[in-house]
Amino acid sequence: MIAARNLTRNSSGKIMRPEPVVEDATMPMNNSSASASQPADPEILSFTGKILEYHQGLVEMHGDMLHALLPAPVAEALDVPEEVYLGDEAHPLLYGAPLLDRLIGLATGEVPVVYGRIDFPYLKKEGFDRLLTQDVRFLDSQVRVVNRADSRTTYMVLVVHYRAMSDERKEGLLRLGLHESSGALVEELDKLWPECRPQFFASGQVPPHFPVHLEKTIASGMLQAQGLTELALADFLASMKRRLTRDVTNTWEYYDALGAEMQAGLVQPNLTEEQRQERRLKIEGLPREMKVKIDDLAQKYQVRVTLTGRAAIRLLVNVVQLVVDMKHRKLKRSVSLTWNPITSRLDPLTCERCQGTIRSIQPVEKNNQIVLCCPACSRRG
Ligand SMILES: [Zn+2]
Repeated sequence: MIAARNLTRNSSGKIMRPEPVVEDATMPMNNSSASASQPADPEILSFTGKILEYHQGLVEMHGDMLHALLPAPVAEALDVPEEVYLGDEAHPLLYGAPLLDRLIGLATGEVPVVYGRIDFPYLKKEGFDRLLTQDVRFLDSQVRVVNRADSRTTYMVLVVHYRAMSDERKEGLLRLGLHESSGALVEELDKLWPECRPQFFASGQVPPHFPVHLEKTIASGMLQAQGLTELALADFLASMKRRLTRDVTNTWEYYDALGAEMQAGLVQPNLTEEQRQERRLKIEGLPREMKVKIDDLAQKYQVRVTLTGRAAIRLLVNVVQLVVDMKHRKLKRSVSLTWNPITSRLDPLTCERCQGTIRSIQPVEKNNQIVLCCPACSRRG
């Protein structure tokens, strides 16, 4: 099927044209200094690409780097040239890098944030061991709770707007509950928090408990929003794909019939040799003409999705902090867990490799230590 060959779906579910093969000698692809730098995190690359596209930048992935053409004000805000490779040594995209801070600023600069607190008069005192098989499962391990303490932590409810543009347009809002310090997606938090009588802080009276650095939270929130957007857009994406397939099939059929008709017309006795030659050339040109038509269709039904943070509610909440001793084969480590009174559950953890949210935790041995992984990362050893 030509449609399937001409279109690929990237990891974000976005339907994309195949990347052009760029053979520009100025490309720093083989630049030894660039390859010596620490590769950018795929999540940060994806987040950066989305932010830049939202701000009208043109972005292309090149391995571990992004090649970007930026509008002047965006380049100025990020303190980079208008044409730039992001993710190389000169412009590293790493947690804590100033460039990432500026990208976060760009992503959240216009997002209104409100601050509040939720105080629970009573927090769960016991029965946590049972939750270690119910809310969070440590596979191939023995775990037990060794410490429980009242504590405080912060959550964010992030409101994200998605817009899919293709032959048609579709948009909507998503709400995500995130544990700020880990970036984990806390299911149901976005629905349950208003029932917990939050009290909002007046501007200028926000206590200093809220973390200043939110790169991880926002990057994780945008990534999770991407997954939720794909679900929300499943019907839309399927419909665009169906229409593309239909139009491509019609185009094939049209050119098939046209070719056959023109071929049959060649035997007409009243044609001059010149006219016959002209028609032969036309027939030879049909596949090229059809390819152009099909490429146009692929362009027409290409789906571009943009995600924008629209609002954030940050909540300071009193929680139970647990310390759990974990034993996997001969190795031991402790893990800290949060019991969340809003959801009445233990919060999920994040994979220590890909930062994805996990409730089933697969321990992986690395340099005599236990790494907590999601199933996909654990298969990579
Ligand atoms: Zn992972």
